[in-house]
Amino acid sequence: MEVAIIAHDGKKAEMVSFLMKYYELLNKKNIQLISTGTTGVHAEKAGLKVTKFQSGPIGGDAEIAARVVQGHVKMVLFFRDPLGKHPHEPDVAMLMRLCDVHNVPLATNPATADLLINSINEL
Ligand code: PGA
Repeated sequence: MEVAIIAHDGKKAEMVSFLMKYYELLNKKNIQLISTGTTGVHAEKAGLKVTKFQSGPIGGDAEIAARVVQGHVKMVLFFRDPLGKHPHEPDVAMLMRLCDVHNVPLATNPATADLLINSINEL
C-alpha cells in the first residue's frame, strides 16, 4: 500500500516526529512510502525506506498527484505550513483537488495524520 508523505519546510520537524512515532507501522512490508525530495531525505535519515520524487517546488507534488490519479496512492499525509509562502501553491492545490476527485484520504496536519494512520488497516 502506497502512502505519500510531504512536509513544507516549516513542518519538516513535525513530520520527522510523526515518522518516529509510527516507525514500526510505517516500516511494515505492506507499506511503501513515497515522498517529495527533501521530505524523503528526512525520512531516510530517520531510518525509513522511501521512494523520493522531485522536490516539491520543482514538481514533486505534481508527481505524487499523478500517482494519485493512477490509483497507486492509498493515503496522502501532507503537513502544510499555512504561515509560509510557497511558489508551488498551484501544484499543492492540484494535489489536494485530485485527492478529492479520487476520494483518497488526505491529512494536511499532524492531528489528522494521527487519525488516518491509525485507521490504515481499514483501507
Ligand atoms: P520537499 O517538498 O519535500 O522537496 O521540501 C515539499 C513541498 O514543499 O511540497
